[in-house]
Amino acid sequence: MVFPVFELLILMGLAGLPGWFLGDALGACLAALLAVCVYALVLAWRVDRFDRWLSAPSLRQDPPWQGVWREMSQRVQRMLRQQEKRVATHEKRLQDFLSAIQASPNGVILLDDEARIEWCNDTAAAHLGLDAMKDRMQHIVHLVRDPVFSRYFSQGNHASDVIIEGRSSSSVSAQKLSVQLHAYGDRRALLLTRDITAVAQAEAMRRDFVANVSHEIRTPLTVLSGFVETLQTLPLDEQERVRYLNLMAVQSDRMQDLVADLLTLSQLEGSSPPGMHQQVVLPQLMAQVESDARALSALMGGLDATQAQSIVFDPSPEWAFLGSKSELQSALSNLVSNAVRYTPLGGSIHARWSRQADQCIFAVTDTGPGIAPEHLPRLSERFYRVDRSRSRETGGTGLGLAIAKHVAQRHGGELRIESQVGQGSTFMLVFPASRCVSIDDASES
Ligand code: ADP
Repeated sequence: MVFPVFELLILMGLAGLPGWFLGDALGACLAALLAVCVYALVLAWRVDRFDRWLSAPSLRQDPPWQGVWREMSQRVQRMLRQQEKRVATHEKRLQDFLSAIQASPNGVILLDDEARIEWCNDTAAAHLGLDAMKDRMQHIVHLVRDPVFSRYFSQGNHASDVIIEGRSSSSVSAQKLSVQLHAYGDRRALLLTRDITAVAQAEAMRRDFVANVSHEIRTPLTVLSGFVETLQTLPLDEQERVRYLNLMAVQSDRMQDLVADLLTLSQLEGSSPPGMHQQVVLPQLMAQVESDARALSALMGGLDATQAQSIVFDPSPEWAFLGSKSELQSALSNLVSNAVRYTPLGGSIHARWSRQADQCIFAVTDTGPGIAPEHLPRLSERFYRVDRSRSRETGGTGLGLAIAKHVAQRHGGELRIESQVGQGSTFMLVFPASRCVSIDDASES
């Protein structure tokens, strides 16, 4: 700022000197005044030029003038560059921060002091059916129209979460969301959403399972204690006593079967899948399964040979199965014993192994009642039964197919069911072909 003052003084001096010669002191003063006016005009023009330069959308271009004005312009440019750098750094940090929140598996919504949406990530938008762009600055309660949420929002205490239905809920599967408000800053709030459908389902399954097990155990237990009471209180003759004891034995067998199946299931779920090192000789195993099936069939048919079921086991291929013997035996026995139990007397059961391209398959077909299509997807759920009374009558635990499915999956395979009501059923264990090798190859390795 010193330079323009000097500039003015020199100009006044230069103008004042000829003014002095022309009109003494008055001439000098007038000339100096004129110089001040001219300088003021020039200054005004420069200020205006500087102002126009400052008002340009971009200050990147160097000003065309020189001297103090150029210096001032460059200082402004420098400050601006620093400012831009700072803004860019902050912008980048903000973007990184938003990307991190965007990547979160949980939904995050930032609400302003009037509970309007300032920002939300895609997960929250999907959870609550919001449009991350269009719904900005909308009041959250106007968008999440769940009475449970509205009540939660209006109450003061948000120390715990609330469970509401998510937008992906349908009539068949309900999406469960855990939603919680966290206050921060100046009356602002963070709304977090978490999809807890799987957790809720697991919890419901656990509750159902405990209820089912309790029910399954309580039924034979009630019958047993009834018999015990009868034996204790009534004077029974020997024949009746034996009959009661036999009935009690049936109930205790039932409980034992149930506990054995439960243990098998928990072992299947709690242990790592079997490798390929154990070799199960199929002809031996199939002979055992067949003899058990015939014994069960004979038990069900009683002494009347005319009512017997026709049981056909195709000659077992000379294969070794690479996997767990006890698990395979359990799966095969469950499928075969189901076929025997659900096929009426006089019906037939056909069991066989076969190989197809990249699969080896065990299949058992029966001429039983068949199963309606709506039951098929649920059949391998624990304790799911189509015919509850037939299952009970024949000593079923409701866990056989769940066990067979687990065994198949643990060996890289699957349980397949084909059935039509009135036409019988075929249950198949489908394994990768690599699980079945010829016995010769197996003994060499
Ligand atoms: P359960 O011990 O009751 O037989 P499973 O898990 O083995 O339990 O089978 C589940 C249900 O599937 C059975 O209760 C029965 O309703 C049906 N089911 C299984 N196998 C057959 C079959 N071969 N024919 C008809 N229904 C079957």
